[in-house]
Amino acid sequence: MTTFSDLGLEALILRALEKMQYKEPSPVQAMAIPLILEGRDLIALAETGSGKTAACAIPVCHRIRIDDNNIQALIVVPTRELALQYATETQKIGGIKGVKAFALYGGESAGMQQSKLKAGVHVLIATPGRLIDFIYSRSIDLSNVETLILDEADEMLSMGFYDDLEFIIQCLVHKHQTLLFSATMPVQIRKIAGQHMREPKEITLTRGQASPKSLEHKFVFCHSHDRDKKLIALIKEIEPSHALIFCKSRIEVEDLCRLLQKHYDKVDFLHAGLSQDIRNIVTNKFRNGRITCLVATDVAARGLDFSKVTHVIMHHLSKDPEDYVHRSGRAGRAERVGTSIAFVTPRDLPTLNRILQTIAREPIWIGEPPPPTTSTPRPPQRRRPYRRTP
Ligand code: AMP
Repeated sequence: MTTFSDLGLEALILRALEKMQYKEPSPVQAMAIPLILEGRDLIALAETGSGKTAACAIPVCHRIRIDDNNIQALIVVPTRELALQYATETQKIGGIKGVKAFALYGGESAGMQQSKLKAGVHVLIATPGRLIDFIYSRSIDLSNVETLILDEADEMLSMGFYDDLEFIIQCLVHKHQTLLFSATMPVQIRKIAGQHMREPKEITLTRGQASPKSLEHKFVFCHSHDRDKKLIALIKEIEPSHALIFCKSRIEVEDLCRLLQKHYDKVDFLHAGLSQDIRNIVTNKFRNGRITCLVATDVAARGLDFSKVTHVIMHHLSKDPEDYVHRSGRAGRAERVGTSIAFVTPRDLPTLNRILQTIAREPIWIGEPPPPTTSTPRPPQRRRPYRRTP
């Protein structure tokens, strides 16, 4: 088994990893770190929960020269939360060595961010919009960037950042290493890779992981009128310590949160309409257990490391099996046991059929299953490869 010291990392980084209680590299780390240290371009198909943040942050911190105050690594991520998460992890890994990491995103004072950059930042983690503002206003010098990392590349594209990414990449005219992390590989990512990467090495860690064994898939059969009543009873029964409850829209998130707060303490909500400060407070409270049920939109929770999530509850079933796989995958991370529970109405049964085919599981019903007159889901036939359409 590979250990961190087998990877040839410097002592200060090894000490930090020990302090963080990272005893051995995750598979993505064992594969990616040697390639990144070699200076290779890399395309990694890896999802949140695989340890991909540290897979980048460890070799990046190892290579930073702390006596050079320029930005040496640039990490572009889709959301502010992910930028903060990356900065925190990088600071933990490189802090003892003296590596300075900083998260640059919209919604914060640009003046404060400029002062921070002037004081010296080695690893900059940025969302595309604010980064481009800084490039336009010439408030940032990217001429010393040696490693460019595009994280959650497919999410950035689905959020409409293709042109922004192209622009950012084109601003790095000098020779540098490019690392691209993505959960899926749509055509546009292939295009970016083909145009801007040098013989990238490709590693895949998602195939066959669409539904880890540690994740249980349960369903609640309901009708629109008794959905909320059943949800309230369910929470009472399972008493989750970390439940992420997905709703379709911001309004639904707020309505459901208000309803649950009438029955339980420690319930709050997260959606992109909240100010950044509030989002950070809520995210932290959920991580440290002061909120046990977090009602959220998919967008707000995207890419976040909620590695302690015990239950994912889907108030509505998404029409797309891949959305189901992504949402349910927030529970049961890193081989921890997790449970996904989705509410299914008679109209959702054909969708449920497709989901069961995708995850290759039998449905486990909490309470009454659908009556036999309704078209009952067929058991899975054969596992189909998990692939998101571009
Ligand atoms: P990520 O996929 O980067 O969001 O990481 C998921 C979780 O795994 C985070 O909570 C990390 O702190 C944790 N983690 C990453 N690498 C390791 C490791 N080698 N050992 C133990 N935990 C890890």
